[in-house]
Amino acid sequence: MPNAQQATKDESAVIRGVPTGLWIDGASRSATGNAVLSVDDPATGETLAEVADASPEDGLAALDAAVAAQESWAQTAPRERGEILRRSFELMTSRADELALLMTLEMGKPLAESQGEVAYAAEFFRWFSEEAVRVAGQWSMSPDGATRLMTLKRPVGPALMITPWNFPLAMGTRKIGPAVAAGCTMVVKPAAQTPLSMYALASILQEAGLPDGVLNVVTTGRSSAVMAPLIGDPRLRKLTFTGSTEVGRKLVEQSAEQLLRVSMELGGNAPFLVMADADLDAAVDGAMLAKMRNMGEACTAANRFLVHESVAEEFADRMAQRMAALRVGRGTEAGVQVGPLIDEVSRDKVSSLVQGAVDGGARLLAGGEPVGDRGWFYAPTVLADVPADAAMLTEEIFGPVAPITVFSSVDEAIFQANDTEYGLVAYAYTKDLATALHLAEQLDTGMVGINQGVVSNPAAPFGGVKHSGFGREGGREGIEEYLETRYVGIRP
Ligand code: NAD
Repeated sequence: MPNAQQATKDESAVIRGVPTGLWIDGASRSATGNAVLSVDDPATGETLAEVADASPEDGLAALDAAVAAQESWAQTAPRERGEILRRSFELMTSRADELALLMTLEMGKPLAESQGEVAYAAEFFRWFSEEAVRVAGQWSMSPDGATRLMTLKRPVGPALMITPWNFPLAMGTRKIGPAVAAGCTMVVKPAAQTPLSMYALASILQEAGLPDGVLNVVTTGRSSAVMAPLIGDPRLRKLTFTGSTEVGRKLVEQSAEQLLRVSMELGGNAPFLVMADADLDAAVDGAMLAKMRNMGEACTAANRFLVHESVAEEFADRMAQRMAALRVGRGTEAGVQVGPLIDEVSRDKVSSLVQGAVDGGARLLAGGEPVGDRGWFYAPTVLADVPADAAMLTEEIFGPVAPITVFSSVDEAIFQANDTEYGLVAYAYTKDLATALHLAEQLDTGMVGINQGVVSNPAAPFGGVKHSGFGREGGREGIEEYLETRYVGIRP
């Protein structure tokens, strides 16, 4: 384990290496009036760095740069765009240690998880470097034989990308990768809590050869005031957002004015089903991943554990043992498995959801309280017999808390799983193929994980239904979000 002084030296070096000004037209510049906003370490509450705090005029300057670069970028050869992504993938991979440390510092997750996210984030660049050269249209004859029908794909145009703090790199590369591949320019607005990872990424893309103006990054403490003029600007053609359902809904309304192409990756309330015949060892392993990846701060986090009555008690006991054994601490420390939550508001929300469930009659099997007197830590928590009206069963917990309820039939499990306005992902453990297929068809979500606790994969279409949003990121579908189809009728 490194001694504290050494770690601090590495930490300041990695932070000093990141540009902290607004990234506009390939250069880092200060915000109007030199305004700054501070970036805090959620493990200590201390300020790590200050980054530029954009004004609405600064935001529009970023859009100006994206608009100016659009035409020549759209004409750049697909192979060249793909090679830039490929080099960015390689640069991210070779700098994984620095990027991971930076992410852990500003976001809190343990270093091993940050390393995992850097690898996952870089994979979107590799995937879309391969997709860039596979964009194709169609050629066919009209049914009456008189006309030839040709379709070709065109980049949508300048895109605005608004991303959350929970996966500071991957939520960016999942949008930037396909936009670069398709030939769109962009303005990215990362969350105010985690801007450093995105600025580090901007300079990597530049080093990989991305022309100035294609990617612009603005950070601001006034998201609504700075984003609204961009969303209302007729030069913008696409809005892609990852974040809460509440903010997503407002942005969809705003995007109606200019009739933007819109993609929304919003909140979730994932059910995790354990059927009577499940392999319980595998189910507990999967449950730990589905719950504890990112300290539970994931849209895909299992939010409700629905367990068949015949195995519920054993499952709950095993989960309680595993959760109680996890080591909580600052993500930079060796052996730490659970970092702090992002801020005080999030930590207090988790506390009040747990208190509400306990007051309503839930049995506390592990955890149940904040940890330490510095930073925003919360103990890994397991609750059994959670009453049906507990708020944690309907709201996103976004923390390390596993509520367990029971069911007695497959139909009841499906009903409970679908009884939510969200529809991002569902997980199910069963050894029976017919049950697995039935669940895959009946669960009302954009993604289903069968006998696996993680579904995220750059080669798969990630996204939700209902209030979890629309549009897909990754997979073959991911690039389509940044392409328009043009049809040309040709009469020979
Ligand atoms: P959030 O909605 O508060 O913020 C997301 C982003 O939107 C941030 O950059 C924020 O600054 C910005 N923003 C907030 N208000 C805005 C406004 N009025 N106009 C323009 N921009 C605005 O969400 P968060 O707390 O950062 O992230 C957590 C949420 O994100 C959770 O609900 C989680 O489920 C969701 N999420 C979804 C996915 C997915 O792929 N479906 C992935 C990760 C996170």
